[in-house]
Amino acid sequence: YPALYVVATPLGNLGDLTVRAAEVLRAVPWVAAEDTRHSAPLLRHLGSPAKLLPAHEHNEEAAARQVIERLAAGDAVALISDAGTPAISDPGARLVARVREAGFRVIPLPGPCAAVAALSAAGIAAPHWLFHGFLPAKAKQRDDALRELAALPAALVFYEAPHRIVDTVAALAAVFGPARRLVIARELSKLFETIHACPLGEASGWLAADANRQKGEFVLIVDAPADVQGNDAEGERVLKLLLADGL
Ligand code: SAM
Repeated sequence: YPALYVVATPLGNLGDLTVRAAEVLRAVPWVAAEDTRHSAPLLRHLGSPAKLLPAHEHNEEAAARQVIERLAAGDAVALISDAGTPAISDPGARLVARVREAGFRVIPLPGPCAAVAALSAAGIAAPHWLFHGFLPAKAKQRDDALRELAALPAALVFYEAPHRIVDTVAALAAVFGPARRLVIARELSKLFETIHACPLGEASGWLAADANRQKGEFVLIVDAPADVQGNDAEGERVLKLLLADGL
């Protein structure tokens, strides 16, 4: 079937590969991968005979043309990234857009995504959340971006790398204030998985207390401002009006 399968792969624990993902990766003749050297062991592990095509952020248009050629020849193609769901803080969106424009079917295979895994275990009751992904590397742009987000009535989800975690957490506390709650989700699905919740004012101290807490891959979730905590203000207003009407 000439379709592009967008396949989520594990964040760390191979057991998180879905049955359907394994079936598709074994069945397709081509796998477009962010880093072919990184993904070759996964295909070997699955016993997949698929050939790898590089599809990273610097060749996405060329990769899209290659993928469309394969689809036009009647072959199915799978798209994977190094970890998690393609196109989520990863390459894939432009390739998918080109394939759709070319009139081919794009089939998502849902699976691991660090943001969703972190949210599911964070205990964040805010009714809305915004996925921001990585912040700008430069301090000024990062702080400008944070100031724009500070008043949103939603929890905010960031991705961060270990070499910036200490600075980023300090910046979050400076911009959002010490009382907003932060959830630090580190090394999800891996051996040293850690999920820690605290007020932003205590987060830098928590990281500093043990150098191991600064290692690995991170999702940071800043909870929504206290006044939108888990309550649907509009819903409550409507309910009060209805009750006042004797309903
Ligand atoms: N496409 C991936 C997804 O679906 O989550 C994200 C890829 S992005 C290039 C990599 C970032 O995702 C890391 O820097 C980290 O912020 C987050 N991440 C990936 N794996 C993680 C894990 N096991 N635990 C915590 N965060 C993780």
